[in-house]
Amino acid sequence: MGLAPDFVSSLEAIVGSAHVRRDPATREAYGVDALRRGQPADAVVTPRLTSEVAAVLRLCHDTRVPVVPRGGGTGYTGGAVPIRGGLVLSLERFNQILEIDELNLLAVVEPNVITADLQDAVERIGLFYPPDPASLHQSTIGGNVAECAGGPRAFKYGVTKRYVLGLEAVLPTGEIIETGGKSVKNVVGYDVTQLLVGSEGTLAVITKVILRLVPKPPQQATLRATFSSIEGAVDGVTRLLRARVIPAALELIDGESLAAVASHLETTALAPSGTSAVLLIEVDGFASGVDEELERIAAACRDAGATEVRVARDTAGCAELWRLRRALSSSLRVLAPLKLNHDVVVPKGRVPELFQLVSRLRTAYALRIPCFGHVGDGNIHVNILVDPADRDEVVRAQEAERALFEGVVSLEGSISGEHGIGFAKAKYLGIELAAAEVALMQRLKHAFDPHNVLNPGKIFPGDG
Ligand SMILES: Cc1cc2nc3c(=O)[nH]c(=O)nc-3n(C[C@H](O)[C@H](O)[C@H](O)COP(=O)(O)OP(=O)(O)OC[C@H]3O[C@@H](n4cnc5c(N)ncnc54)[C@H](O)[C@@H]3O)c2cc1C
Repeated sequence: MGLAPDFVSSLEAIVGSAHVRRDPATREAYGVDALRRGQPADAVVTPRLTSEVAAVLRLCHDTRVPVVPRGGGTGYTGGAVPIRGGLVLSLERFNQILEIDELNLLAVVEPNVITADLQDAVERIGLFYPPDPASLHQSTIGGNVAECAGGPRAFKYGVTKRYVLGLEAVLPTGEIIETGGKSVKNVVGYDVTQLLVGSEGTLAVITKVILRLVPKPPQQATLRATFSSIEGAVDGVTRLLRARVIPAALELIDGESLAAVASHLETTALAPSGTSAVLLIEVDGFASGVDEELERIAAACRDAGATEVRVARDTAGCAELWRLRRALSSSLRVLAPLKLNHDVVVPKGRVPELFQLVSRLRTAYALRIPCFGHVGDGNIHVNILVDPADRDEVVRAQEAERALFEGVVSLEGSISGEHGIGFAKAKYLGIELAAAEVALMQRLKHAFDPHNVLNPGKIFPGDG
């Protein structure tokens, strides 16, 4: 269903006709995200002012036209995709860092500031914004807040929600609210700030974010340990946790993922031959602390049977070791036309059982399932590779997907630690959440968005 001419005229009156795009190429481009499944928008609107966002939302509310907020479009669950048609509201012109407050250790930013740009800006003056999704050069702070993004450093520093102090946001009815603020403590009323964090663009459009910063650690180092089996690497993690070390990042890459990167980058220099698992570990802090942590980590890895332990202390050396991790997503894409990329999470101590579960799924469903991820958080990216032309493989992959989700929930884990639900995982919500909890969430959604115009079809099964 297209947009009514009156509606388009009203939209153009709000943002100017140059900022309402309806050409086929734009509609297509904004109709997909990193999930690569979608549907073209009826129009793409790019407001510049919060008052314009408010007027657009009020218009959509009054006319019942769906509207989907969009940041960098790197989401993995179709969150920014207009599956019910209507508008994509791209925040791309909200791209300014408004304030970096050195004394109060905070930054005030517009939502479409690119994550890496904020990190660079604060690091130049000795401050640090830790959340570092692997998409940090394309993803936006608004998208990170809406998904509560994590990343390798979440092990020590926590995920995005720990850094969000306050928000300016526009409700689906067009009201503008300001939540939280610049103080680090605030217990007045319900915590609406944290309700909006991770709400996947279904409750409000975020137009400004107040973020907590921390001092930049003076020293960083990276340690890479290689293992001849995945069990050895997982044992290394267990020993490391027992040694009471909290590295900044603790990443595991299995042999299948390693082979994919080696082939994609056309190099054999990523790890010694015979390597079946790699741990990448970042340590930061004051120099003496970094040295002691490196020693303890190296000992834990050697005790677990590491075949090689390498340490880099300079920026170039660390970047070289991290090259493997950064190249993973793109490398796996070339292995199969379709990658069901899941970000399941279990309590840290149950990671060995998660790997046993994946191993059983590989055999039972005859599928390739490379795994890597934030093992320190128990958050593993389980990638089910599928050839969509092979109908039998597609069915087996779908069965394996459900078995994976049921398995992680039985391990006291969650079906998503980072990527959210979007529309891709909505049908699995009931595996993890009880009916009463889902019903409460739907009542909250209704209170914010009585006509279900803001990002409809996301999170809740049957709503798509
Ligand atoms: C290669 C790659 C690596 C990745 N690595 C990680 C990782 O390590 N950790 C991790 O957590 N994720 C990761 N992701 C997933 C993704 O990058 C994150 O979910 C990210 O936070 C999305 O940000 P975005 O700006 O691209 O948002 P989009 O994809 O544009 O949107 C995501 C959701 O947020 C909503 N949204 C966006 N902006 C706003 C706003 N201003 N107000 C309200 N709602 C809004 C959208 O409606 C949508 O529901 C990765 C993705 C890729 C492609």
